[in-house]
Amino acid sequence: MKALVKERAERGFVLKDMPVPKELKDDEVLIKVKYASICGTDLHIYQWNEWAQNRIKTPQIGGHEFSGEVVETGKNVRLVEKGDFVSAETHIPCGKCRQCRTGNMHICNDMSILGVDRDGVFAEYARVPECVLWKNSDDLPQHHASVQEPLGNAVFTVNSGDGVFGKSVLITGAGPIGIMAIQVSMAMGAGPVIVSEIKDFRIEMAKQNGADYVINPLKENALERIMDITDGDGVGAVMEMSGNESAFNLGMDSVMPGGHISILGVFDKTVELNINEGIFKNVSMYGITGRKMFKTWYELSSLINHKRIDLDKVITDVLPFDKWEEGFKKMEEGTCGKVVLELPTEEKETV
Ligand code: NAD
Ligand code: ZN
Repeated sequence: MKALVKERAERGFVLKDMPVPKELKDDEVLIKVKYASICGTDLHIYQWNEWAQNRIKTPQIGGHEFSGEVVETGKNVRLVEKGDFVSAETHIPCGKCRQCRTGNMHICNDMSILGVDRDGVFAEYARVPECVLWKNSDDLPQHHASVQEPLGNAVFTVNSGDGVFGKSVLITGAGPIGIMAIQVSMAMGAGPVIVSEIKDFRIEMAKQNGADYVINPLKENALERIMDITDGDGVGAVMEMSGNESAFNLGMDSVMPGGHISILGVFDKTVELNINEGIFKNVSMYGITGRKMFKTWYELSSLINHKRIDLDKVITDVLPFDKWEEGFKKMEEGTCGKVVLELPTEEKETV
C-alpha cells in the first residue's frame, strides 16, 4: 500500500510502499482509508519542530483525521462490522486510569495518539482500535466525514462553560478550527461573532463563513474596535484559536467582566498573563483539549447531519494523495482552510 511515512528525523515525509498491516489485535479493525485530512499537528511533524523531535519515533506513518471503510475486524470487535463507514477519535485512551474511569477519557493519563504515537492514516490501510471508532451516517459525504475530528475541537471549545447563546464572542485566529468555530458559534446562537486574524486568505474565509466582524490586529486597534462593536461592554466569550500571545491578551482585555475565555490554541512558549485583570473581572478560563468522548461526537454529528453547518465552506482543497506536498505547502502558507487528501481506490464516490 502507499503510505506517507516520517522516515527520518528531519523535515518532510516520504511517500512509499509499505506492507498492509497484518495480524490485527482482537480489539482492532483494519480500515481502507478513503479520505485523510491534514492537521496542524501533521504540519509540525512534517516541519520537524521541537515538539515533534521530542515526541515522534521514526519511521512512522503520519495522519490521524480520516474516513474509511471497515475491511476486517478483530475477534472481540462488536461495535462495527465489515463494510461500515467510519471515522475515529484520535486520542486512544487506556481505559484503566482514573480519568478513563471517571468519564474523562479525553484526558486519559496514558493517552496514545494516532499518527503521533503509532502508525496513522496517511495510508491506504490503517489499524485502529475499536474503542475510538465512530460510525458515520451513510449519507455523510466521505470527505466531510474526515474533518469531524477538528470540528469536534471547535464544538468542544464553543460549548465550554455556559456556552455562547445570546452572547457576543471573539474568536482569535481563523485557521481551519477558528473557521469551524465561526459556524458553530452562529449555530449555537451567538451574536455578534467577531474574529481577529492576520492573514488575508483567512480574513476572507472568515467573512465567507459568516463572521459579523473580522479585524486584523496588525492594521487597526482591535481592542477599540471590539469595544465599539459591543457598546463598551466587551465580549461575553472568547475562543482563543491562534496560539499567539498577543491574540490571547486581546481576548483577556476584551472579555467583559464575568465572561469566559476558552483556550484551544497551543503556544510554543510560556505566555505572560495579567492574572489580576482576570481575577478582578471575575473571568473564567477553560483549557480545551481534544473532544469529549463521545459527547462531542454526538453533538458535532447532530450539527452536520442536520445541516446546521456547511463543511464545504471550510474545506478548500481535496487533493489526490500523491499531491500531498502541495497540501502541506498550502498549510504552511496559510492559503487554505481544511485540506483533505483522497486516498487511491477504485470504488469510491467522486467529490
Ligand atoms: P492554524 O495554525 O491553522 O490557525 C491559527 C490561525 O491564527 C492562523 O490563521 C494565523 O494566521 C492566526 N493568527 C496568528 N497570530 C494571530 C494574531 N496575533 N491574531 C489573530 N490571529 C492570529 O491552526 P488550526 O488548525 O486552526 O488550530 C488552531 C489552534 O488550535 C492551533 O494553535 C493548534 O495548535 C491548536 N489545536 C489545539 C488542539 C487541542 O486539543 N488543544 C487541537 C487541535 C489544534
Ligand atoms: Zn486512561
